[in-house]
Amino acid sequence: MAAMGKYRNIVILTGAGVSAESGIDTFRSAGGLWENHRVEDVATPQAFVRDPDLVHRFYDMRRAAIQEKLPNPAHAALAELDARWTGDLLIVTQNVDDLHERAGARRVLHMHGEHLKAWCTSCDLRSPWRTTLIERPPCPVCQARTLRPDVVWFGEMPYRMGEIYAALRSADLFVSIGTSGAVYPAAGFVRDARELGARTLELNLERSQGSRWFHESRLGPASEVVPVWVEEVLA
Ligand code: NAD
Repeated sequence: MAAMGKYRNIVILTGAGVSAESGIDTFRSAGGLWENHRVEDVATPQAFVRDPDLVHRFYDMRRAAIQEKLPNPAHAALAELDARWTGDLLIVTQNVDDLHERAGARRVLHMHGEHLKAWCTSCDLRSPWRTTLIERPPCPVCQARTLRPDVVWFGEMPYRMGEIYAALRSADLFVSIGTSGAVYPAAGFVRDARELGARTLELNLERSQGSRWFHESRLGPASEVVPVWVEEVLA
């Protein structure tokens, strides 16, 4: 990746691996289990209908946990890239934590929602949220007690796909960081970007499931490989 000067429009996809060194578990690192439930079974609309208290407890716990964590050097490097990159840049994150923003990044799109927001299914509005939902607090807008985590569950449509595909169409560099390539549609972005002519690079601890679609893979912890790559791009 010597000649970064030839790139203008960058799309970066981040996943749980970028926050792992901040102490936020990736789903798969903990064996994919929470209180003996498969995480996929907690993070579905069916689970919320079946056992809403269980789902609220899971998200209340994760919402509390992320507020005690801090951005790591990978988040800081991406924020610096965002501040200094004069071309188009979009950081599409699957993460529901706010560590990109807390590091200072601005051009961030949360395709799977955000822990720090609650969505009212009665009035359809989203409100900033830092505390718990299990006691069914009223929606600050319409007062209905129908708030749920503003997180995209398995089987639901990710947010802002039109904007993401528009960015992928004009990208000449696509970089995937800390994502396993197991969750679609994000896992398909590399293929789309490559078919549309972008150079594709993966930065991950290990090869992801879609690794063969990348022109280049650099393996290592995000806190090390991301700052090195950002320095190259900005050089
Ligand atoms: P994943 O758990 O499926 O995969 C994480 C990937 O990161 C793995 O490939 C792993 O090898 C890699 N990784 C682990 N530690 C790393 C490190 N230090 N440096 C670089 N790479 C590292 O996560 P995913 O692909 O993001 O998909 C899981 C889904 O879970 C997503 O939809 C996401 O919304 C959700 N999730 C979010 C968070 C968060 O917000 N921080 C945490 C867990 C899960």
